[in-house]
Amino acid sequence: MSRMLPELNPPERLLMGPGPSNVDPRILRAMATPVIGHLDPAFLGLMDETMGWLRQVYQTRNHHTVPISATGSAGIETMLVNLLEPGDDVVVGIIGYFGQRMADVAARTGANVRVIEAPLGESIPPERFEEELKRKPAKLVAMVHAETSTGAEQEVAAVAEIAHRYGALLAIDCVTSLGGMPVKIDEWDVDAAASCSQKCLGAPPGLSPVTFGPRAMEVVSGRKSRCQSWYLDLNLLFAYWGDGKANTRVFHHTGPITMIYAMREALRIVLEEGLEARFARHRKAHEAFVAGLEAMGLSLFTRGRRLPMLNVINIPEGIDDLTVRRRLLEENIEISGGFGPLAGRTWRVGLMGVNANPAPVMRLLSALETALV
Ligand code: PLP
Repeated sequence: MSRMLPELNPPERLLMGPGPSNVDPRILRAMATPVIGHLDPAFLGLMDETMGWLRQVYQTRNHHTVPISATGSAGIETMLVNLLEPGDDVVVGIIGYFGQRMADVAARTGANVRVIEAPLGESIPPERFEEELKRKPAKLVAMVHAETSTGAEQEVAAVAEIAHRYGALLAIDCVTSLGGMPVKIDEWDVDAAASCSQKCLGAPPGLSPVTFGPRAMEVVSGRKSRCQSWYLDLNLLFAYWGDGKANTRVFHHTGPITMIYAMREALRIVLEEGLEARFARHRKAHEAFVAGLEAMGLSLFTRGRRLPMLNVINIPEGIDDLTVRRRLLEENIEISGGFGPLAGRTWRVGLMGVNANPAPVMRLLSALETALV
């Protein structure tokens, strides 16, 4: 006998937290198109197109630019497990929770992890990387470009120059920045980068776009030991995605077809808008939001280089974090609390993808004003 079970009926939220952000309807439509096989010639063409468009968004000519079939964390892990071997030295720049996480992942490869830290809300002056590398060389420098836990940006180009001068590679986490502010892989001379699908690119969570430059791929092909992860081994992954030489595609894992449709549509939207226009839109939304916050007497936590797409707000004295967030959720608006030592002291508001626009900003500001009373 057939049964009737309740249909899926999630609430329609305005997602103004650190991600996922709301998904553009064009992406949802792309996801409703027919699933085809992951080795179907039609799908192989879509993979090539996705790689090409991802290169444009990453502003790179790196052939080795693909979405990893898992969330952003897997992209970070892909960089570290492929570039590090037991006993290697790695310097990790930590300006918040996600930098700490990079150090944790790096340590699990058996590498010798050395950290450089900055107080929460600040970034690390590039000279500190130079001091550390001068003291002792390292194979890799790893750091977070846009630290989602504190709203701070870490300068990349100057650190890349220093890393290379001391013979190290540079790997960056640009999970929060890609698609919302400049991430110039070639101009900045970054060797490896990883991001996610669900923030400024505006697709659902589930993919992690990565890019690897020639120096990084040389390290990968010259490894003494096999990569500790089978799933994230770049040599195996590029046998499926294409190594840029032979025109063959070898089964590795079943590509998440629908998510790759989503990524392709997200990239199409980004490139149709134009990178510069998109970055300017994120910046403008941030400025409007901050002006509104200041008019309400609220202030931002982050000092120094502030991210446009991730705003960390000081919770005023006498205001209860959870009460305000519950009131907002009753209005179908999600924002997020602070991480670790910033829990209860800060809120985190994302202005990402479709939400970096006047209407969502105004809706949140007006709901926040009411919730604070
Ligand atoms: N790195 C940063 C800077 C992030 O903000 C996040 C997620 O918010 C991650 C890594 C992990 O990405 P994911 O949650 O997609 O695995």
